[in-house]
Amino acid sequence: MTYIKLLLCLFVGSVHSWTLDYLAAKQVPSPHFNRGRSGQAITCLVLHGTAGGGTVSWFQNPTSKVSAHYVVEQDGSVVQMVSEDDTAWHNGVVTTNSVFYGRPNPNLWCIGIEFSRNIQNNNIMPEVQIASGVRLVADIKRRYKGINIYTHDQFNVGRTCPGPSFPLARFQNA
Ligand SMILES: [Zn+2]
Repeated sequence: MTYIKLLLCLFVGSVHSWTLDYLAAKQVPSPHFNRGRSGQAITCLVLHGTAGGGTVSWFQNPTSKVSAHYVVEQDGSVVQMVSEDDTAWHNGVVTTNSVFYGRPNPNLWCIGIEFSRNIQNNNIMPEVQIASGVRLVADIKRRYKGINIYTHDQFNVGRTCPGPSFPLARFQNA
């Protein structure tokens, strides 16, 4: 009996199941996250461009060590890869010339959304993708009143993310 309990404990301890925060998303878990938010409140939504395809499999690849809560594909499909309750690994580098420099790691207080874009992060995004992203952002705004919307390049200054021709106003107005 003790042995079985031990096995059960090991099993339960190694599996972290979570439910979708955004019901229109498909769940594809990434192993790249930290449990919880280390006491930080979620006050930030940070928007990214993927700089190329294959993002969902890259976030599952053990060598990448990166993730985001959501990926919005060019066809408008949405994948959730990390629970909003947990810390994803998308926004951990803050340059000294960022207004966010010196604050706790932004991954702890931000939700991250990746928008699939071309390698240069400069394509005109399809309307179906933008509209899908607007619905996702509106849902997050409804659940986190007053959440701030930022872009990755406000933290990692000089990085081309989310990149040119990104329809930021559409998401700010969602
Ligand atoms: Zn980014």
